[in-house]
Amino acid sequence: MAIHIHPAIDAGIAPETPGFQGGTLTCRCATDPVTVRIGSQVAHNHACGCTKCWKPDGALFSQVAVVGRDKVEVTANGHKLQVVDPAATIRRHACTGCGVHLYGRIDNDQHAFYGLDFVHTELSREAGWAPPTFAAFVSSVIESGADPEQMGAIRARLGELGLPYYDCLSPPLMDALATNAAKRAGTLHQAG
Ligand SMILES: [Zn+2]
Ligand SMILES: [Zn+2]
Repeated sequence: MAIHIHPAIDAGIAPETPGFQGGTLTCRCATDPVTVRIGSQVAHNHACGCTKCWKPDGALFSQVAVVGRDKVEVTANGHKLQVVDPAATIRRHACTGCGVHLYGRIDNDQHAFYGLDFVHTELSREAGWAPPTFAAFVSSVIESGADPEQMGAIRARLGELGLPYYDCLSPPLMDALATNAAKRAGTLHQAG
């Protein structure tokens, strides 16, 4: 059985274009689509297996990246956006017409990732976005219905695509979360 990681990843991963300056995300509504202008390149793009990120039909993973929230601007039909789960750390703004998530925002200014919005670059027609470089929350695809027996094959496929895979976030992002927690707890002492 073929393993569908994500439509933007399955056929191989396109490299980013140096100097790429962003583009416009468009939801999937045939009329009055929501559009969101992203004013820069994204960072930490990855395949995510969690149950909360928006995934296209048939995909095991979402593809999600971060960008500074000051670079994210709703440019059309913002009235169609609604927060999926207001209690979640990441407030994912979805189109009420087609269900696509346009951006996720963290409003807690104590969070390590405060100031970054989560976006799906596949919703843009522009080519040149920074490609996914790892897979996160891989074991969580079981919670979305993946067969636990398939996990070996899924991880093997991720490896074949060149994506290191983790059952949480990547080491740099886990370090950022822990650093923030240690600073807030007063356990992180500055050298010297
Ligand atoms: Zn829509
Ligand atoms: Zn996710």
